[in-house]
This record gives sequence, structure tokens and C-alpha cells, in this order.
Amino acid sequence: MTFSTPPLARSTVDRAAHLRTDAAWLAAARVDPRSRVLLVRDGSVATSGGDGGPGDPWAEPDGEVRLAVLDPVSAGLGEDDWLFLGLDAGDVPWFARRLPAVAQTPLTGVASDRLVHLPVPEPAATDGLSWTSLRSIGAVLDAHDAGLATSAVALDHWHTRHPRCPRCGAATQVTAGGWTRLCEQDRSEHYPRTDPAVIMTVTDAAGRLLLGRAAAWPERRFSTLAGFVEAGESLEGAVRREVAEETGVLVSDVVYAGSQPWPFPNSLMLGFHARAVSTRLTPDGAELAEARWFSHDELAEQVRAGAVVPPGRTSIARALIEDWFDGPLPVPAR
Ligand SMILES: [Zn+2]
Repeated sequence: MTFSTPPLARSTVDRAAHLRTDAAWLAAARVDPRSRVLLVRDGSVATSGGDGGPGDPWAEPDGEVRLAVLDPVSAGLGEDDWLFLGLDAGDVPWFARRLPAVAQTPLTGVASDRLVHLPVPEPAATDGLSWTSLRSIGAVLDAHDAGLATSAVALDHWHTRHPRCPRCGAATQVTAGGWTRLCEQDRSEHYPRTDPAVIMTVTDAAGRLLLGRAAAWPERRFSTLAGFVEAGESLEGAVRREVAEETGVLVSDVVYAGSQPWPFPNSLMLGFHARAVSTRLTPDGAELAEARWFSHDELAEQVRAGAVVPPGRTSIARALIEDWFDGPLPVPAR
């Protein structure tokens, strides 16, 4: 089994970390008409050529959706609302402008990360642009744009959620081009947080794949098992624990496959393959509503029939499943 790199792990951007502390260079680059700016807000990026639309952040975008790319003036880049993302192959500086998250109304009865985006006043140049969730657009962006958008969304989430010093509670200042926050009270520096989570294929002796449906998900959506790494735990230990806790299956031969940033809001998904040494399924009913073993033919047939909805193409879960499947999953018949 070989692992194909999932969409958000394909960045080709030079992060140029040595320039983050070069205040003179950053000040010049921020007004350089050659510089390029993308717009980020609450897990979404501004896009053109299609409508991300409200509602399901997993929905695949319509039409030829592209990342909206602006110059610093059109983007309305201000004094303190920007992030330095790096340099592209032509030494062009890339920035993101952070737009404030608007008041949002959770849809009744759905998970808290499925929110309705309300219209918000934006720079004039964004007329005709849409906000599209990185989750839905990730799989259609090229490696260059996916890398920029992923860093922008990850940093934006961190700033929004960590405005204060965790030591003394004072408000902190953004420094290093958006990559550090500094507490002026106790001089402590704070860096973007990333929480490791493991995600895994589990196969039995017959080559069948174990998939589950989380209790919070709609009927028919199935994916690989996953969970956060606990304090003081190894990655391999987390894989064994999560599979056992959620399904009752014991696994061995835990092998690393690859990773993908998942900034919703700040996870790093670490993918593994594992071999089941028991097959009896006892889903916990709390986190996991259903667990099933699928042969290649069963999964193909059920996806084609719409009886099983696989994870979106942006996710590492999809990449792991398609590696086991040895190719793209079939498209549901309409
Ligand atoms: Zn402090």
C-alpha cells in the first residue's frame, strides 16, 4: 500500500521564516504592488469563479473555483490585520488579510463547525467574490494555493482563539509577521498551536476495511476512525487505544502513512495503517454510532448506490481509503 499525499499537505510555498522578523523588509513588501494577498475569514478563503455558498462545508464547490488573489491596495491590507505567508518561486511575497469573523448563527441540531456565513461588509475589490470553506475547496486547489490557504486558515484560527497570554491573562501583540504573539507584561512568546490527531485504516486478514459512522454525522456518512492524541501518549498507542475504544477491535502492526494539516481549528492529522487481530465490532454508541467491515466490492457498490457517503476529497481520510481501495472511489449514480 502506497500513500498519495492528501490535498492540504502538498504545499510548495517557501515560508521564508528569516524574513518574518525583518521589519523593514515586511513594511516595504506590504505596499509592494507585486505582492499578492488572499483573504481569510473563519476557516474560509475568498474565491472567484464559483459559489461556495452557505451550509455544508464539505460540499464540493461548483464551477471553476479559484483562490481570489489581490494586490495590497485592492485587498485593503491594513496595519495589523495581515499575515506573512512566504515567497513563491518568483520571489513574490504572499500575505493574507484577516477579516473578522461575523456573528454567526449555528444551524439547529448540527455540529458547531457547520455555521452559516452571513453577508459582511468587505473591501470594494471583493465584489463578485465568495467565501469558500477550505474543507470544500482544498481538493481543487493546486499545491501552491492549497499551501497558502492552509497556512492562512491555520494562523487565522490561532489568532482568533488565543488573544491573551496563557501565563498572566494580558492581551498579547502579534509579532514576526503573524507567527508569534508577545506578552508585553511578562515578555513571554507564544506560538501557533497544533494538536496531533491520529487517523487510521484498519484491515482484517481478509483484506476488509473497517469504517465507522460518528454519532454526530448524518446517516450513511462513513469514514476511517480517528481521535486526538492524549497527553503523554505515543502515536502508535493512540491508534491502538482509539480503535479499541470506538469499536472493540484490537490492532497490531501500526505503520505511519503520512500527514495532513487540518486547521479546523488546529489539528495535524497523522495517518496510519493498522492490522486487526480481532474482528468483532462493539461500537461504543457514544462517539461512534455504527462500525462495519467492507470488502472492496461492497464499498464500491454501496458508494455507487449512495448507501455509503465517503469523506470529502480534501480529507486525509479519503486519501487513506483510496489507497486501500487502490484508486478513486466510484461516483454515486444519480
Ligand atoms: Zn503574560
